[in-house]
Amino acid sequence: MILISACLLGVCCRFDGKNSAHQDIQILHTQEVLIPVCPEQLGGLPTPRSPAEIKKGNGMDVLLKRARVINAEGLDVSTQFITGAEQALFIVRALGVDRAILKERSPSCGTHYIKRGGRTIEGIGVTAALLKKHGIQIISSEEVN
Ligand code: SF4
Repeated sequence: MILISACLLGVCCRFDGKNSAHQDIQILHTQEVLIPVCPEQLGGLPTPRSPAEIKKGNGMDVLLKRARVINAEGLDVSTQFITGAEQALFIVRALGVDRAILKERSPSCGTHYIKRGGRTIEGIGVTAALLKKHGIQIISSEEVN
């Protein structure tokens, strides 16, 4: 079993109500049991929702309360992002999953990159950081082929 960002499987859970369906992941779905999760929905945020980004630092800094996640309306949604990450970790532990394929460049799911001010920068998302901290193998959606 592999945990996977739900939007990669075609679930319309992105901030804009769309998905990020990934052809190679559709093929992977025939070979592995994929467990779709959307941490931002699990954290209680609606879909569609205002896009958000990590201000300063990265997802680990958010977990350590050294940085915040702020949406386009200026609202602090750090609590929802942390709750979503904790819920994803709960699912991982409940099912005994040890790998996760996560959507690159997301403030929740980014494994190597996040976006800030419309630019891609190095950094890890909040959920990716929490899963990595707990020993889950984090795989970028851009590494799946
Ligand atoms: Fe996809 Fe993760 Fe964003 Fe949900 S939080 S829409 S699963 S990238």
